[in-house]
Amino acid sequence: MIVMKFGGSSLGDAERIHQVGSIISGKAEEEEVLVVVSAMEGITDQLETCARLSLEGDGGREKLIEEIRSSHESVAEQLLEEGAAKAKRQIGNKLDRLGDICDSIATLGELTLQTKDLILSLGEQFSALLLSQHLKEEGHSSSSVNGSEIIVTDQRFGSANPLMDKTKEKIRSVLPPKIRAGEIPVVTGFIAATEEGKPSTLGRGGSDYTATLLGGLLDVDAVWIWTDVDGVKRADPDIVSNATTLPRLTYEEAAELSYFGAQVIHPKSIDPVAKNQVPLVIKNTQNPEGPDTTILNGGKSSTGLKSVTSISDLTLITVKGHGMIGVPGIAAEVFTAVAEAEVNVLMISQSSSEQNITFLVERRSAPKAIESLKGTLEEEIRRSIIRDIVTEEPVSIVAAVGSGLRHQAGIDSGVFESLARRGVNLLSIAQGSSDHNISVVVANQDERVAVQSIYEWIQSENQQS
Ligand code: ASP
Ligand code: MG
Repeated sequence: MIVMKFGGSSLGDAERIHQVGSIISGKAEEEEVLVVVSAMEGITDQLETCARLSLEGDGGREKLIEEIRSSHESVAEQLLEEGAAKAKRQIGNKLDRLGDICDSIATLGELTLQTKDLILSLGEQFSALLLSQHLKEEGHSSSSVNGSEIIVTDQRFGSANPLMDKTKEKIRSVLPPKIRAGEIPVVTGFIAATEEGKPSTLGRGGSDYTATLLGGLLDVDAVWIWTDVDGVKRADPDIVSNATTLPRLTYEEAAELSYFGAQVIHPKSIDPVAKNQVPLVIKNTQNPEGPDTTILNGGKSSTGLKSVTSISDLTLITVKGHGMIGVPGIAAEVFTAVAEAEVNVLMISQSSSEQNITFLVERRSAPKAIESLKGTLEEEIRRSIIRDIVTEEPVSIVAAVGSGLRHQAGIDSGVFESLARRGVNLLSIAQGSSDHNISVVVANQDERVAVQSIYEWIQSENQQS
């Protein structure tokens, strides 16, 4: 059995959904197929805007709901035959209800994460309904399955965590009987429910996670993630237009790339497949026979650098103070303060010669982090143990990802030399905490050149080996 997940870009319009239908039909002739879908392209963003406008009491929400309605209606009309009217009615009813929910949000001036999840969960329900009806009209037996019936989560609305045992039980009782009966289930990605049955979501981009949860818990032969690029590239194609596809990656490398901003796959989604060593394949709906990437450990995967990725619009915060030497616990205090402000730290580097702690956060959360730092460290600042808290922005982190990096001579120096040759000024370097990446911080304006030069170095190394 194989799980096939189609992202929003593969479900952009009727023509693309038709193409998805052909891919599924082709595979279903060879083996059992379980389908997972995202919402149609752009729909979740529109729903999110709709929720925000409602909270602001903005009448523009009504126009937005009509736009969502008309994009789905036109897909239903172009894609479906006898099922078109019914699909339009079902989607229309849900959108009417959305209108009511938005009115109450506007009246109350309140939007909880729980209500927001309820709103965001609509997109996947619509796309699953349309695709499953299309498969039926193509002669398959199919039904749409709402993720809230099979994935049980905690109460962290907005980014809920699956409760594995309960989820496993549900998945195993609902899906295999359908598949054994010859059906192709189309499961809504991203959506789940709490134990009490309240709708929750797995966080933006969470459809990948749904696919790997199903794949891991059903122990399938493979999970195929369909997107609109030829697998995972050695660099972001927006920065390096001719970047080549990586045939193989390990789970750790894929997780590292996702963490550092590559739009490979939702970071949480590696775990369920890695646990059961289920191969994860990234493929392109627009080029199904083209190059793809298989994520799996062992086999031919080699050591060395594989890919380069980056995240921009960050702030580098440095806590300075000569007095910090020999004063225990300052680093702990610094990071506790940042954590209390609920700010995520992307990279830490501490120099031993200067008594500085430098770390990287998203630019938009930097003010919160600094405010919290100043509060927590008030006493140290007063006593001049801490001299200053300085920031540099906007900066980017550029991460070269691979395996066995600590045990191979010449990789660090190769990366640094390639950057120096192009005149890139390094603001900070992460100390080798991970065997899977070398990361540097550069000014935003140097990001592209930094990525390009590291990419070129990776290409030349791979050609030599
Ligand atoms: N539709 C959701 C989102 O846009 C989930 C997904 O596409 O993976 O975030
Ligand atoms: Mg995605």
